[in-house]
Amino acid sequence: MPGTISVDTTSQVFTASRQPDPDLCLIHTTEVWGWPPYAGGGEAPHVTVKPIPGKGIAVRVHRPPTDVGKSLANRPGGVETNRRGVWQLELMGTCDPSRKDELYYWPDADDVVLSALAEFVRPTLVRFRIPFRAVAPFLPYPKSYGSKGGQRLSFTEWNTARGICGHQHAPENDHGDPGAFPIARFIQHLNQEDDMPSVKELVDALLSAKVVPAPMLGEREQLVAIPRSEELSMRWALEARDNAIQARKLAEAQALKGKALTKDEVKAALEEALAESVDIEATLTVRPAAPEVTQ
Ligand SMILES: [Zn+2]
Repeated sequence: MPGTISVDTTSQVFTASRQPDPDLCLIHTTEVWGWPPYAGGGEAPHVTVKPIPGKGIAVRVHRPPTDVGKSLANRPGGVETNRRGVWQLELMGTCDPSRKDELYYWPDADDVVLSALAEFVRPTLVRFRIPFRAVAPFLPYPKSYGSKGGQRLSFTEWNTARGICGHQHAPENDHGDPGAFPIARFIQHLNQEDDMPSVKELVDALLSAKVVPAPMLGEREQLVAIPRSEELSMRWALEARDNAIQARKLAEAQALKGKALTKDEVKAALEEALAESVDIEATLTVRPAAPEVTQ
């Protein structure tokens, strides 16, 4: 059973202009605990991920992948960094071995957290055909700081890279995060299809979840937060999860009602969604072709 994933698409949403469809996924570590304010959005990535050791992850979505993320430095001239078409994730915690005892240490990330992260990230990678492979080796921090370790991409490499990288690989940048992020283990989880929840698991989770707008959910409550009738947020929720048809039905039912649903109403909406998903079952291959699987 995969770890839990709670996705909050309302608490910290920032607007930005569009970027080309991402063909690169870039990982940061925040080096602090708590949700960074990101200067009101001016330094925000697309997504922040909080690890819950041994249990899963809590995610805040800040922008859709087709908008510009803003967690990279960009010097005048040279290449576009934030605007090249790169999907940026900030992982709450550290990559600095000297701070191992204070913060969640991503190089030693536990497999429940890592598989939950893979499960969250996979649909976006598949959607944009971002290959499940590292574009360069991930060096440990502090070796990864600056460019002396030789891991940072040249302008040409940066512009043509497709796959997964870290802040330590971005040109025009000095930061060494996410250090020795366990990229090989992460890719294994990405390739492990049985990390995907079955429809039954998803329905069970939805049935036991409280269906309320995300801001009303407590920190430790069950995962399904359906934003109320806000079309944009709803679309993000759909992008984030593979089996989103149930979520959409619930959101629709809730939007119609304008307040939280009773358990019976949740059940009715789910039954409708399941009926609809029977039709979809046969055409599941409509999803984008699987990306190249390389390590
Ligand atoms: Zn960074």
